Amino acid sequence: MTTTATTLKGQPLDRPALDSMLRRRMFYTPAFEIYGGVAGLYDYGPPGCSLQANIIDVWRKHFVLEEDMLEVDCSVLTPHEVLKTSGHVDKFADWMCKDPKNGEIIRADHFVEEILESRLKGDKEARGQKVEEKEEDPKKKKRKAKGVQEAVKLDDAVVQEYEEVLAKIDNYNGEELGELIKKYDLKNPASGVQPSPPVAFNLMFQTAIGPSSNLPGYLRPETAQGQFLNFSKLLEFNQGQVPFASASIGRSYRNEISPRAGLLRVREFLMAEIEHFVDPEGGKKHPRFHEVKDIELVLLNRTTQLSGKTHVEKISIGKAVADGIVDNETLGYFMARIHLFLKKIGVDQSKIRFRQHMANEMAHYAADCWDAELLTSYGWVECVGCADRSAYDLSVHAKRTGAPLIVREQRAEPLVVEEWEVELNKKKFGPHFKKDGKTVEAAVLATTQEQREALAKDLNEKGSITVEVAGVGDGKVEIPKDLITIERRTRTEHVREYTPNVIEPSFGIGRILYALMEHNFWTRASEGGDEARGVLSFPPTVAPTKVLIVPLSSNEQFRPICYKLSQRLRKLGISSRIDDSSATIGKRYSRNDELGTPLGITVDFQTVQDSTITLRDRDTTKQVRADEDKIIAAIQSVVDGSKEWKDVEAELPIFEGQEIEVATR
Ligand code: AMP
Repeated sequence: MTTTATTLKGQPLDRPALDSMLRRRMFYTPAFEIYGGVAGLYDYGPPGCSLQANIIDVWRKHFVLEEDMLEVDCSVLTPHEVLKTSGHVDKFADWMCKDPKNGEIIRADHFVEEILESRLKGDKEARGQKVEEKEEDPKKKKRKAKGVQEAVKLDDAVVQEYEEVLAKIDNYNGEELGELIKKYDLKNPASGVQPSPPVAFNLMFQTAIGPSSNLPGYLRPETAQGQFLNFSKLLEFNQGQVPFASASIGRSYRNEISPRAGLLRVREFLMAEIEHFVDPEGGKKHPRFHEVKDIELVLLNRTTQLSGKTHVEKISIGKAVADGIVDNETLGYFMARIHLFLKKIGVDQSKIRFRQHMANEMAHYAADCWDAELLTSYGWVECVGCADRSAYDLSVHAKRTGAPLIVREQRAEPLVVEEWEVELNKKKFGPHFKKDGKTVEAAVLATTQEQREALAKDLNEKGSITVEVAGVGDGKVEIPKDLITIERRTRTEHVREYTPNVIEPSFGIGRILYALMEHNFWTRASEGGDEARGVLSFPPTVAPTKVLIVPLSSNEQFRPICYKLSQRLRKLGISSRIDDSSATIGKRYSRNDELGTPLGITVDFQTVQDSTITLRDRDTTKQVRADEDKIIAAIQSVVDGSKEWKDVEAELPIFEGQEIEVATR
């Protein structure tokens, strides 16, 4: 498995060159730049928008269409109550430190990671070993400039300790991060002092809904909650059938403490999320698991990480589920489908791994969670989370609102249940307890079967029972016999009611898009031998524009031919661009190689005579020549994925003529 950042052709990745190319060609650009910009906010330009739209298009086909998912588009503005109930108001936070000297706000886990990595790097340098540069965070650069990273050799034991801490960095809570800062005397290189102990910083953007400001709310931090709240309606839409999945594509907002690494950690980003609702009984099997069971995934499990290591194993998802490494079939099914999706859009397969969450890292209700991480020049980056959220979300919202977020299922065989049942004498119960009636009733109804058995005995023997009721009197309430009956009764259930469990694959589209750009970037020497030219070898399905049309010169005869070709392609739904600028053909092609345009048509004087055109492949720069119909058919099959360039080359005559680099005006 690759561990360093390399291009598609195995060249060391020159990230500054890639970054400058992406900005120059307007894949993305800092938002509000002429006002100085805001960290963590970006705008996408034309090729970035097309690339994103194409990734989303593949996503919809791969998941929503393939699995008959129910797509919803829910409100971004979310009332406080919803996110209070879901736990986000209290728990959706990162650990933040403040530098007491210079006031810098620092994300605690990143700070520990950064300083320990920098010490390990210094150690490697001192030992004369090769050092890989991973991060180009401007703040880090500034710190380095201040001479922080010295080449100091560490004890072997210390190196091992640091490596172990780094392997489980996501598992530490705020207190533990504070202890690490103290233990290793981690100082902010910019000021030379230790930052303050970490405090929780909630990542949600708060706002007020409506002019009176009495409905507090937030910009949603994920699209999931809207899907949960619509559960009953979706279930009805699905004729009451489970399993089913909902899906949503939309923006989410997180007030990241220190946005960095370009599109990788931003404050506003596009998410595509799936909530797959499944019966918790029967081991969360998936009816299509057999289709994916032989797919091999690279896994980094939690036991390995907790032992301070990061080695991975390549294993079929079938075996991983059978061996209990991955909790259940449905979770495993989605991991495999995520892998196939990433492969389809052109993510380098040798740069994908699935990392299991450690206990502390996982939400307290989650049963299991695996992140699809992609290797970039910033290291391994979580791009898709795949979590088993159990019945948590539906249960808490049902409890808070009284809405029946459950499945009701006719039983094949009626179920006979013998249970202790409580019956209240309503006529007397209310008047007896007055304002406390509801609270006492709720406490009585919340008793367990064991408690009811004991209470029934008390009621028989003493003529009354004592129940603990928080907030009423001294917390103990006596209920006399004439207000309550507790008996063992038998009833027959024809309907089964249960709260489904949720498996949630959650995609950060911006992160995937960035990784895709890194994975598909390479440089080729220009024909003249001067500076290397960037190429983005996107698969045709996601490439922003599929075909470049270049007339050989500005000769008027070429114009209607180019126009007609672009019309034909448009009718087929294939995006194209005509470049009739004055640059040489070679330059025009290399400009479009930078944009990732996979195919190029040249219209020349021969075209005027016999309607033949040449078709050029971006990656090999090879060309074929044939009549318009054959070339259009070839383009269509390459774009829809039914053929590859090598098939086109085998079927159509090769065009040996050089790309003619003549100035055309
Ligand atoms: P989470 O709900 O934290 O598991 O995040 C789900 C997905 O959203 C992650 O796998 C990322 O791809 C993406 N994501 C989370 N936070 C950010 C961020 N600040 N910037 C860009 N993408 C993010």
